[in-house]
Amino acid sequence: MRWLTFDLDGTLADWPFRRLMRPYMQALLVQPAVRQALREEHLRRLAQGDHTRVYDWGDIYQVVREKLGLAQAFPSITQVLAEAVLEPEVLYPDVPAGLAALRQQGYRIAIATNGLARYQRVLVDKLNIAYEQMLAPDISHAIKPDPAFWNPLRSQVPEAIVHVGDLLSQDIWGANAAGLTAVWIWREMPPDWRTTPVAERTQRPDLRLVIADRLQSELEEYGQAPFRPQTLPQPDHIVADLEELAAILEPTSPSSDLAQA
Ligand SMILES: [Mg+2]
Repeated sequence: MRWLTFDLDGTLADWPFRRLMRPYMQALLVQPAVRQALREEHLRRLAQGDHTRVYDWGDIYQVVREKLGLAQAFPSITQVLAEAVLEPEVLYPDVPAGLAALRQQGYRIAIATNGLARYQRVLVDKLNIAYEQMLAPDISHAIKPDPAFWNPLRSQVPEAIVHVGDLLSQDIWGANAAGLTAVWIWREMPPDWRTTPVAERTQRPDLRLVIADRLQSELEEYGQAPFRPQTLPQPDHIVADLEELAAILEPTSPSSDLAQA
């Protein structure tokens, strides 16, 4: 059995949870004190290794709401998500055909998100993404980049696991640590990287600097998980979209090192 595990936000879809909650949260998020308090509560949970609660934004908001005496901004996240209508463009345009091609190649699809399964499942279904398994903090009791995040799949001892994600600090570090094939999907890849053949991108001498810079900004934005590898994240492949991914994993492709797996 061969598995492809996909991050959701920034990899398959344009941040559906954030989009749907934004209208409720906008008036609060423009207040620096509220933003700061939400971030502090998130980072406190991250530092404490409180894995299933690090990305529980509903609960984080309740704590901050009580602390700052704010009004209730939304009825309940479950209700908001259940009633939500997602525009088709929330799903990146290459995803339906890309996933179909990868399935044709014999891969099973897993959604591997640091968002809570109880929120993300609803959104993945609304986006019509078919999958066999979900990995999430409330399923794995771990968050990316902790290799334990993939344990529900690794324990089945599959032939191969390929993880695909947009964040070096979560997806690539995690895949490296778990011994998976690591694919960095770089959706805002600059034109000069796009024209570099996929098989040559990991050999570019300027890659190290790109990775170091992005890692730094990711850690500043998302915080530092307790699990931190000593080396830079090291993608096995760098792709701009799922079309490129399907091409490198294609068994007949000369650049594929997975065909024999
Ligand atoms: Mg992501």
